[in-house]
Amino acid sequence: MPDNVRPQSGDSRRDLRGSYGPARHHLLTSLFGIEGLHTLSVYRDRGGYSSLRKAMFEMAPEDITAEVKASGLRGRGGAGFPTGTKWGFIPKGVPGPKYVVVNGDEAEPGTTKDRYIMENSPHMLLEGILIACYAIGAHQAWIYLRGEYDGPFGMLMAAIAELRAEGILGDRPLERDYPLDIQIYRGHGAYICGEETALLESLEGKRAQPRARPPFPAVKGAWGRPTLINNVETLSNVPWIVAHGGAEYAKFGLGTAKGTRLVSVSGNVQNPGVFEIELGTSFREVIMEMAGGPPPGRRMKAFWPGGCSAPVLPEWGLDVSTDLDEVARAGSMAGSGGVIVMDDSHCMVRAARRLLQFYAHESCGKCTPCRVGGNWALRTYDRVLEGQGSEVELGTFDAIQESLQNGRCLCALGDSAGFVIASTMKHFRSEYEEHCLEHRCSVEEQVVAASA
Ligand code: SF4
Repeated sequence: MPDNVRPQSGDSRRDLRGSYGPARHHLLTSLFGIEGLHTLSVYRDRGGYSSLRKAMFEMAPEDITAEVKASGLRGRGGAGFPTGTKWGFIPKGVPGPKYVVVNGDEAEPGTTKDRYIMENSPHMLLEGILIACYAIGAHQAWIYLRGEYDGPFGMLMAAIAELRAEGILGDRPLERDYPLDIQIYRGHGAYICGEETALLESLEGKRAQPRARPPFPAVKGAWGRPTLINNVETLSNVPWIVAHGGAEYAKFGLGTAKGTRLVSVSGNVQNPGVFEIELGTSFREVIMEMAGGPPPGRRMKAFWPGGCSAPVLPEWGLDVSTDLDEVARAGSMAGSGGVIVMDDSHCMVRAARRLLQFYAHESCGKCTPCRVGGNWALRTYDRVLEGQGSEVELGTFDAIQESLQNGRCLCALGDSAGFVIASTMKHFRSEYEEHCLEHRCSVEEQVVAASA
């Protein structure tokens, strides 16, 4: 574990909680599992929509934004931008409509946490959306939902119908003269629609390709209007923050990472699933304890800490904490919270090739390094895996990953494709050299020998 990744002094869980060990605070999922929670009546019986009432009758819009800022909540969709700051970017006093757009296009491989929220507690998300609308002065919200998510679509549609019937959505929600409406827009299956400006293009009925920024969506978003775009999990935290206050929320977490988050753990683990963790929990706790670690007889080899868009970390990364900044110091990203685990039966060159296939397929084609680089990398991997590699291919991988990163592409998809090559080469270079120079794979040889 590199020294710059170790917890900083005064920054340990012991300091915060008085004990060292897994902290299982459930802010988002405390009610999950209660029968009928997806219905308005059960959600309301458990205190649901009291935060919306508090926000609309006891708080000024700017007070709500101030509480979200005080909470230290950061976006849970990938970029980790401070949520309250983002809300504060929405211009005040401008004539005409503003919008809230919810990014529910959860298409990052290995990430299923937003689905978990929408299927278990759709009203928690809807309440967060309505509070956000009121805080920024919007009357209309859109949920951009991944097209394949039939289950969440049905749950949300039913929940919205309940809100309309009860007068919580409509011209006078909670008998207040502040019209509110939420509509669902189903995506069409392209990964790029999760990028917020491509999402806006798609929402407007155009081909989903990222926009050049500035202007940012806060100023010129959906249909050219000021638009707040937040992820499903991000907004689902808002009812708790309004109910308890931002300062209470900020007591959870570690360092600059406040609160809890959902992680979805998949791959070579015995107990895959979605877990709510306090930020600062180590990946060792997440992968080895909560998810049960690799199957018997296998060793942990590598994991993607934030969906496959984040650079891979080798086994030493288990001792990195889930604090967003600490993951960044370790050379990766907390991203979408999708933790993908690989054990020692996997060849990392072959794994990288599979991911490049995904990125090459999902490139929207708008910028050259991504459109050309992804397929060029894929062809190079194929040549190497067919035993035709050499020094030249090692250099080619370096050249492609360099051309994909460092701001040369319009959106993060290009960087992510570059991360796959760069991080697997950085941590598992010996496997690349074996394939390119010796035309063999010691990982496959060991797997074959063990099964003989
Ligand atoms: Fe499209 Fe790739 Fe450019 Fe993103 S990086 S805009 S996906 S071509």
